[in-house]
Amino acid sequence: MRRLLLTLLVLLSTPLLAEVVAAKTCPPNFGYSGYMPPSQWRFVPEWKCGTEPLQSPIDIAMPFTSERNKAITISYHPMQVTVKNSGHDFRVIPSGENTMSVVVDGETVTATLDQFHFHTPSEHTMAGRPRAAGELHFVHVEPQTQKVYAIAVLLTSTTQANTNFNSIFARLPLNLCATATTNVDLKALLPATIGTYYRYTGSLTTPACDGDVTFFVLPNPMPMGAQQLETLRRFGDNARIPMEPRNNRPIVYVTP
Ligand SMILES: [Zn+2]
Repeated sequence: MRRLLLTLLVLLSTPLLAEVVAAKTCPPNFGYSGYMPPSQWRFVPEWKCGTEPLQSPIDIAMPFTSERNKAITISYHPMQVTVKNSGHDFRVIPSGENTMSVVVDGETVTATLDQFHFHTPSEHTMAGRPRAAGELHFVHVEPQTQKVYAIAVLLTSTTQANTNFNSIFARLPLNLCATATTNVDLKALLPATIGTYYRYTGSLTTPACDGDVTFFVLPNPMPMGAQQLETLRRFGDNARIPMEPRNNRPIVYVTP
């Protein structure tokens, strides 16, 4: 019995992966306006939104540290996915393994794609410029350390739909907390090799705002159809605004 309790305690104290996979509770216990907006998250004692100093999102601006030849290798595959209405975003959860590999601080990290989801408008900004129309977060978890590695791509509004996402948009569950399945060619969503990006250490941008998340922010936005963005705006603004302070942390600008 004691052992069971201990196991339960350990499970309860390491909720990161479960939180990443999908909203822990659906409907969620936080919001972006009205009840529990981002400005209030820091006052919830169980969350880290106000206690961990290196939070996300931030403005990606100078000064940068530069590194070269640290390309991210993306190994995604076509597969069945679950599309979930988490109550605060649409998220896509793959049924099989997709990975990213990259060298961080001299160590090669291979992390598994856990899910990706959409924010409108963007959470990160570039050099103080206005927010992009949206932002896509590809969230990966390193299976041994459970550390999170997130690729952030800003979304820019275009008249043409981004057809790579057609099968997802055709199956978006509109009911709160509902799910649907579809097939997606995940490898079409990101280049196989990403040589240029900004890297910094931050946090999850939703409660509990857990820290030690390595963010890779891509410099070029991805086109997304205006109609598609309108659909994503079903949840209204779901970006953590205002921006979190940089607190002197380094941002590494990686180029080929
Ligand atoms: Zn996100």
